[in-house]
Amino acid sequence: MQYRRKILFIFFYIFLIIPQIKADEVKYIILFVGDGMSVASESAASRFLYGQDNKLIWNLFPVKTFVTTWSLSTYKSEYKIDSFDKNNGYDISVAGDKPYPYFFSQQAEKYFEKAEATDSSASATAISTGNKTFNGSVSWCNNQPVKNIVDILNKNNNFNIGILTTALFYDATPAAFSSHNKSRNNYKQIAEEILSKTQPEIIFGCNDYYYLRDFATDNSYYLVDSSDINRPQIFDNAKNKKMFINLNNYSVPKSQNSWNVPDFLYEENSIKFKDIVNLSIKLLLDKKKKFFVMAEQSQIDSANHENNYSKMLASVYELQEGVKSVVDLVNSKKTDMNWNNTLIIVTADHATGFLRFDKKLYKGQLPKKNIILGKEILKRNDSVDYKSTRHTNELVGCYVVGAKSNLFNKYIGNQYKNKNIIDNTDIFKALNEIVSGK
Ligand SMILES: [Zn+2]
Repeated sequence: MQYRRKILFIFFYIFLIIPQIKADEVKYIILFVGDGMSVASESAASRFLYGQDNKLIWNLFPVKTFVTTWSLSTYKSEYKIDSFDKNNGYDISVAGDKPYPYFFSQQAEKYFEKAEATDSSASATAISTGNKTFNGSVSWCNNQPVKNIVDILNKNNNFNIGILTTALFYDATPAAFSSHNKSRNNYKQIAEEILSKTQPEIIFGCNDYYYLRDFATDNSYYLVDSSDINRPQIFDNAKNKKMFINLNNYSVPKSQNSWNVPDFLYEENSIKFKDIVNLSIKLLLDKKKKFFVMAEQSQIDSANHENNYSKMLASVYELQEGVKSVVDLVNSKKTDMNWNNTLIIVTADHATGFLRFDKKLYKGQLPKKNIILGKEILKRNDSVDYKSTRHTNELVGCYVVGAKSNLFNKYIGNQYKNKNIIDNTDIFKALNEIVSGK
């Protein structure tokens, strides 16, 4: 009798206790990056879509904080990792403890006009490695390569990796997560390192070098063009292979000016950001292994560089649709993804365009277009004002939901006491703690 009781006890231990321990394990991590997405861009999109601020899906996430993005190129004196002055990177007393539109002062405006800003490679390196570096370098500091979060996950070999971008797959942001190079411009070296050494399970992005198609195949990748993914049986021969999906039919939709009815017009046969995300997650779930995905919407940055407000709105909308599709998938319970094993982070690498609002636009409303008469620009666009075509040193947003998301709270207020701010290197620190218990 006692023996049977003991067996029963062991049975309960194995089937009840262990699954509970396992349930807290983080299995799926999806990091969304809105390239160049200033907090003003988020506000603009939220107002266009919902008529008010803070209505984007990530505004509902339990962890909401702002992020400093400065790089060593913008740091105002010699940087020492153990004793740097954070105000030389972002001076909170001048620039404010919140970004525009939640804080505005003439002093801050002057600061942002003058202050240099990071580029995507240095900020993506900060997020992927926890190290500050100079603009232009990807996972490269002090003249040497540095370990990034993907190296850590690859080394432990218990996570599959997905690198998704609407830009070139060897562009700065994806490169900082999947290669190491002193210069982001060494495209061929970066692309070859990604395909032959890092070898993410899925690469989904654009490619301008034709020879890389063969190079990918030679390195055991199954190559598909995104325009072909709807063809039946296209993935039939892909079993057990790593996937390289060449993005050849992506374009940002056109925002429509329609009072109270926000709308976007997609080009026929173009793929959407959410399709890129959904397909990649489906393929990764099929592998029945843990995964880390970095998914970048890159046109927010280019739109802000171009001071193209309506393209920026559509790009933020695209990002939101991608994030929403993963949130919906987790909520649907159709897969084994749940909020105890899935972590979603949404952030930006830096702000671009120095966007300011002169007037509040309503739901579905676009600013009036400028009229060009010969050499004269008749400015009718009196609702929004882009004060730059470059990056700025403004705080950006970071939003986290799901498994162990509360670990991010630990870093809030570290750099600037009692302020709702983290540094971009803290994103790595929190992620590293989550995946390696350090
Ligand atoms: Zn840029």
